[in-house]
Amino acid sequence: MIPYGRQSLDQADIDAVVEVLKSDWLTQGPTIERFEAAMAEHCEAGFGIAVCNATAALHIACLAAGLGEDDVLWTSPNTFLASANCGRYCGAAVDFVDIDPRTWNLDVNALTRKLEEAERDGLLPKVLVAVAFSGQSCDMRAIAQLSQRYGFVVIEDASHAVGARYAGRPVGCGEFADMTVFSFHPVKIITTAEGGLVLTNRPELADRLRRLRSHGITRDTAQMDEPSHGPWYYQQVELGFNYRITDMQAALGLSQLSKLDGFLARRRELVARYQALLADLPLTLSTAQADAESAWHLYVVRLQTERLSRSHREVFEGLRAAGIGVNLHYIPVHLQPYYRDLGFKVGDFPEAEAYYAQAISLPLYPAMTNEQQDFVIDRLRHLLVDGQASGL
Ligand SMILES: *Cc1c(COP(=O)(O)O)cnc(C)c1O
Repeated sequence: MIPYGRQSLDQADIDAVVEVLKSDWLTQGPTIERFEAAMAEHCEAGFGIAVCNATAALHIACLAAGLGEDDVLWTSPNTFLASANCGRYCGAAVDFVDIDPRTWNLDVNALTRKLEEAERDGLLPKVLVAVAFSGQSCDMRAIAQLSQRYGFVVIEDASHAVGARYAGRPVGCGEFADMTVFSFHPVKIITTAEGGLVLTNRPELADRLRRLRSHGITRDTAQMDEPSHGPWYYQQVELGFNYRITDMQAALGLSQLSKLDGFLARRRELVARYQALLADLPLTLSTAQADAESAWHLYVVRLQTERLSRSHREVFEGLRAAGIGVNLHYIPVHLQPYYRDLGFKVGDFPEAEAYYAQAISLPLYPAMTNEQQDFVIDRLRHLLVDGQASGL
């Protein structure tokens, strides 16, 4: 099976993890801080807070943004569940903004209209989770302007976008978002097995994020409500979690980061081949967002189903039957039973739903060979075109 995505690990990665295993610190040691500093530096951000996964990162980012029970979080329906669930963890209501039918990211025109309505109704969101779908930022310049006008906090869910750029700067630099979240799950751009990171330029947010990561505990006497009892003393000043990452994972992350540019280059090469070799097929390829340079976590095509005799499902199953591990990103979040129980229904976000009826994620990962890619293209061509010619 050719998977849709997979990690690239080498001996240097293995050695980096083993070295930590031989050291004094398996967790809460110096490697975590080195990883945080290296990621922050790479992304031109002030602070990096590493945690056990991106879902936890989104949760504490929402809490640091002040999101609570009387608040609303908005995000795209074309995302992984965690971009919305983080709002529910805080007790907030969640709502969605439909996608742009060309970039498949949250549509800023729809966002603008929805904000105007929400202002009239007194229901403005406190947080917008702007998902960089497939590795390409949203129209972040427009989103940053809207956040100033309407006062919401921008959390960029850049789980797909480690190493991506926007407006000539690294995603995560904080020019257009208050906080940026990365995932280091094995299918993503670089991996720590499980892992996530929040980047921010605001020291007060960084402090809060660190505290929430570790039980709401502070050892900073300035944050305590009475003088320290002694060197052992700490105070729990709010309800936090154990969302820590380990030094072994951080070591893997540091080692992976040193190979990021090579990973991105190979992804771009494969994408350029897909774009060229699929151009004559009845497919819609994604449109580049102005100013954005994608990290290409995913390579998605939309079938022009009205021009095909085979259904979306038949093409998907045909590829799977050929040993190609295609996938579908994403089932619109608002159509999940959990969200339908909250009142969402079919038809609420028609662009995301139309996309879902046509999208297929083709395999894309740095170790994929040109031969494997040619096989994927050949099978897809066969399913889209040959079936037509023979009247299937
Ligand atoms: C993978 C992913 C997450 C969650 O990442 P984990 O590290 O697995 O918790 C969140 N948002 C998006 C868009 C993702 O793709």
